[in-house]
Amino acid sequence: MRTPLVAGNWKMNGSRASVKELINGVVAGAKSLSGVDIAVCPSTIHLADVTAIAAGSNVAVGSQDACTELKGAFTGETSIEMIKDMGCQYAIIGHSERRTLYGESDDIVAKKFAVVKAAGVTPIFCIGETLEEREANITEDVCARQIDAVFAAQGDDAFAGSVIAYEPVWAIGTGKTASPEQAQAVHAFIRQHIAKHNADIAENTQILYGGSMNPANAKDLMGQADIDGGLIGGASLKADDFLAVCQAGL
Ligand code: PEP
Repeated sequence: MRTPLVAGNWKMNGSRASVKELINGVVAGAKSLSGVDIAVCPSTIHLADVTAIAAGSNVAVGSQDACTELKGAFTGETSIEMIKDMGCQYAIIGHSERRTLYGESDDIVAKKFAVVKAAGVTPIFCIGETLEEREANITEDVCARQIDAVFAAQGDDAFAGSVIAYEPVWAIGTGKTASPEQAQAVHAFIRQHIAKHNADIAENTQILYGGSMNPANAKDLMGQADIDGGLIGGASLKADDFLAVCQAGL
């Protein structure tokens, strides 16, 4: 049985004050929620404040990215060792905004995946197709290609101890959600694809849906057999909405 995971991606939002208010609200509301893993991923500059407030609670913290390198002359970057040292348990890797706006190729994302895993931090590995790719009927090919870059670098057991987030690019921040059936079909494909390499790992891997998930649609999406939670952008910026999504995962 897979425990659902609901993770908030706060992206580049908030001030120190507003982020502290948000994490305090999430921590307070999460106390009564058991049976769902909960995480929030603030911007790097807010990690210290958020990990300090979340310490000892049932809310884990993650970064939104990690550098491919571990230390040295990489101005502006943050290494996974720094992220881990800050108390993070998760790192989002390969978000579509990183892939499209910052040119992260499948190979770069696979390298990030490897350094995150090697550090003992759980990667939340994001994949998903654009609208053009969906309309061209190549959603599965795109997801398989993104996953295969990790298998090529890491071998058959690559996804042990990791999380996958299926996020159709056309649904992120647009208010357009994949229907539960559309999402379930891709999640089942992803699980089968991983099972070709290792059936146990496929069975145990949390596969999250991301793309305009909110309190109104979360239950239907998470009610699908292969949807094990959500990666939540916009709806994670209000504690009540985020907690309602977490509640829907129970
Ligand atoms: C995301 O960016 O990972 C995401 C799912 O955003 P939203 O929920 O706003 O679509």
